[in-house]
Amino acid sequence: MSTITSNNIANSSGITDENISFSKTWCEKQVIKGFSSICYYGTLTYTPSRCSNCGFTSETVKIIKYGTKLSRITLTKSANLPTYLFLKKQRFYCEGCHTTFTASSSLVKRNCFISKRVIQAISSEGQFISSEKDIAYRHSVSTTTVNRAIHPNSNPVMGASRLTFQWMNSNQ
Ligand SMILES: [Zn+2]
Repeated sequence: MSTITSNNIANSSGITDENISFSKTWCEKQVIKGFSSICYYGTLTYTPSRCSNCGFTSETVKIIKYGTKLSRITLTKSANLPTYLFLKKQRFYCEGCHTTFTASSSLVKRNCFISKRVIQAISSEGQFISSEKDIAYRHSVSTTTVNRAIHPNSNPVMGASRLTFQWMNSNQ
């Protein structure tokens, strides 16, 4: 695939991680969770500089490519449709500590399946009056994700008790 085409995909989809390459069928409509959605298909691979488990560099320990793992990442909506990236992530095996780890992408936080852009959009919308359920629907994510994006530093238990407190007050 030419660089120009890859750039076009990156611009239209917000998939700006240069370690992601796209398949021949890189985008199509598909029904996900009952909704017609736009789906992108990419592969994430690179040569890791160190093992993410033991931390030794690839000059010290041998790190080999070890299959792939498919994950579905929620992107910002395009044409008002839920948008996902089906990403085939490279897995690696470290011969130093005999463990495996998966390639990470700048699009998402580690162990997260919702793009940073979506989290940012939710976080800024949270400053206006809009129900968390409404924001969750608009971004095709759960209300838990919305709550975490708006209040990144509060733990869920604290959030729940604060809501209970407000509810009790309003009934007095
Ligand atoms: Zn290791």
